[in-house]
Amino acid sequence: MKSNIRKSLFFCLALLLSFSAMAQAPIKVLLIDGQNNHGNWPETTIMMKKYLEETGLFKVTVATTPPKGGNMATFKPVFSNYDAVVSNYNGEPWPVETQKAFEKFVQNGGGFVSVHAADNAFPQWKAYNQMIGIGGWEGRDEKSGPYLYYNEQNGEFVKDTSPGRGGSHGDQHQFLVKARDPNHPITKGLPESWMHENDELYDRLRGPGALTLEVLATSYSQTEKRGSGRHEPVLMVTKYGKGRIFHTTLGHGNDSQKCVGFITTLQRGTEWVAKGEVTQKVPEDFPNAEKASIRP
Ligand code: ZN
Repeated sequence: MKSNIRKSLFFCLALLLSFSAMAQAPIKVLLIDGQNNHGNWPETTIMMKKYLEETGLFKVTVATTPPKGGNMATFKPVFSNYDAVVSNYNGEPWPVETQKAFEKFVQNGGGFVSVHAADNAFPQWKAYNQMIGIGGWEGRDEKSGPYLYYNEQNGEFVKDTSPGRGGSHGDQHQFLVKARDPNHPITKGLPESWMHENDELYDRLRGPGALTLEVLATSYSQTEKRGSGRHEPVLMVTKYGKGRIFHTTLGHGNDSQKCVGFITTLQRGTEWVAKGEVTQKVPEDFPNAEKASIRP
């Protein structure tokens, strides 16, 4: 009898240990950089790696492509070794083999996070544009897909096929981010709106995913700041095959990436693309509608 009790105790203990080991297995993230028209990319890579790892949830590996004009054929990360890819990359096309491997990775359920200028990259890569949903610059126009913005009067998203360039921004400034889906795991528990630290507010993005993207948050692009006069998507999610994608247009300069709003949504977005849920609490220093909040 006694030995039976001991046996079941050992069994329970083993079960508990294996559960906690499972719970502690880090989410494996591949952060890609190497080329970007934003010269601060080596710094933002370090910042984003730190933000993700300090949650205790992620283990981040950085993959750096050859520099511009280098031998891109050597860039062949094994995406399937990771749960999610975070892109801090805006540069020359990857080899076709790498593009196909990335498509397969997301198609099969791999997560993808596109940060700021990553949505400028690869204007000719059809699947990539489907993943980011909307993008800008690099020759994007009406052939790239509709514009997507929010009409606050009727609460509807506008998919606008009118001709014109894709991608623009006005002067950098602090601006309000407004949650449009407060019930998504990424935005759940965040304030309805919060002040974002000095940043570029992307406007007039367009792409094939304008029809299927779910916009989690928008920011009003003021004409006084040389913006579009529209409520522009800043946080978005979509799916590609079985894969989940989180797209943030925020994060131009180091200052914008010190914003607790940027940090929190990056952390939550990366967990969501990898796991389909968010277990992180909203930090106490999260900004409110009146005041931005930055970490040193
Ligand atoms: Zn920028």
